[in-house]
Amino acid sequence: MNETNPQNLVAKTWTGPLEPPQSISSAADVVIIGGGIIGVSTAWFLAKQGIDVVVCEKGHIAGEQSGRNWGWVRQQGRDTREMPMIVESMRIWRGLEDEIGEDVGYTEHGVFYAATTDEQMNEYAQRIDVADEFGVGTRMIDANELAKHVPGGTGNWKGALYTASDGRAEPHKATSAIARAAVSKGAKILTSTAVRGIETAAGQVSSVVTEHGAIKTSTVLCAAGAWTSMFCRSLGITVPQLKVRGTVARTAPSASVLDGNLYDDRIGIRRRQDGGYTVALGTYLDHPITPSTFRFGLKYLRAFLMDMESVRVSIGREFTEEWSAPKTWSLDAESPFEKTRVLDPKPNQSVLKSIRHNVDNVFPQLAGVEIVESWAGMIETTPDIIPVIEQTESLRGFHIATGFNGHGFGIGPGAGKAIAGLLSGNDSGIDLKEFRLSRFFDGTLIRPQAGV
Ligand SMILES: Cc1cc2nc3c(=O)[nH]c(=O)nc-3n(C[C@H](O)[C@H](O)[C@H](O)COP(=O)(O)OP(=O)(O)OC[C@H]3O[C@@H](n4cnc5c(N)ncnc54)[C@H](O)[C@@H]3O)c2cc1C
Repeated sequence: MNETNPQNLVAKTWTGPLEPPQSISSAADVVIIGGGIIGVSTAWFLAKQGIDVVVCEKGHIAGEQSGRNWGWVRQQGRDTREMPMIVESMRIWRGLEDEIGEDVGYTEHGVFYAATTDEQMNEYAQRIDVADEFGVGTRMIDANELAKHVPGGTGNWKGALYTASDGRAEPHKATSAIARAAVSKGAKILTSTAVRGIETAAGQVSSVVTEHGAIKTSTVLCAAGAWTSMFCRSLGITVPQLKVRGTVARTAPSASVLDGNLYDDRIGIRRRQDGGYTVALGTYLDHPITPSTFRFGLKYLRAFLMDMESVRVSIGREFTEEWSAPKTWSLDAESPFEKTRVLDPKPNQSVLKSIRHNVDNVFPQLAGVEIVESWAGMIETTPDIIPVIEQTESLRGFHIATGFNGHGFGIGPGAGKAIAGLLSGNDSGIDLKEFRLSRFFDGTLIRPQAGV
């Protein structure tokens, strides 16, 4: 391993303390469960308002999805309901490095959804109306224009859906940098600190119980990513959530074959700040069947039909693991969150082989380039592929922000601002009503518009 080409960036996302905290706060205005991009961005915006906030993370900052994603920051191809939040998020990303004084690798070189058939060209063209409504500048380009942007590609493309103002950032840097920015504004970040549960008084949150003791508070945000459904279930709150596993690889620095982010049926690829590429298969996600698949499956029917080509269903040890996991637990003994400090699924080896094959074929100049690191991440999905953000109706003071599906990294800072507004009562200007949890239970038509 050398410094310019380290082999474990995914495992090294946080340069703060990894050991349990010496002490925890006895009280806070707000306690956030989860140190992913959603939790720390919310903490940053709260701390900027002078609110006393503590983030509890069972493992390390960005240890799960927020440090394992592709690094795409995109407006293109989004659900209409997410557009106001992502537009605001882009504004924040553009000024982020100046504001926090840290490098997060943010740059805008466009996103391309490359089409290999006329049908795909037509399908992508339908996305332009939504983008126009929000002034995003998404347009269709032909094969000649695409070739100028992607000189090293031999994908037989007809053209692409293209948004020049879309970008990327480095997941192993961004969330930790935002966490440090939050700390500099007064937030407390506790790593190796699992939250076991909540104590209540007269239907109102009264404290958060961590493995190191309780923190008195009347306001909690559960931003626990893939763990949210389990955590909420222990409180009697049902959050439909299914997980899909994405396998990703990172190459050594190599020839410049494109400068933006490109996606097609075979490959999802973006240039990295270190001169390498983050690559995955364009359309491949594993869904390990669990009891939740049966519990929530019907609600996911439309999402499944939309993403049918991408999702491969299998059954393995995940079924028995979830089956035998406790639904509730005592708050003064080890909880499931301490047992899995960092959810670190194994990458799918056959997907890694296909990634190798597709990189070599679609980008011949990269043929044989060393794959320096590979990993997987569990993406949490909702039935309509947009998040849940709300103050719950059944437990006063308890809030949920989850279900960012496969596109929560880019929207993270904007979501953090909106959620901080919800928690503090200071209007962020972003309407959250489309994200209420009750939409899954009150007869609202579940309408996914965009894939994971
Ligand atoms: C392979 C892959 C590719 C992706 N590509 C992209 C992309 O290119 N662009 C994009 O925008 N998005 C992408 N995403 C999605 C994006 O990464 C997520 O939507 C986003 O990171 C979610 O952030 P989060 O903070 O909600 O969750 P997470 O980052 O998962 O954070 C949740 C945290 O909560 C902690 N936690 C859970 N329970 C407890 C507890 N009881 N006590 C204390 N801590 C707890 C966990 O340890 C975890 O660190 C991708 C995701 C994956 C996995």
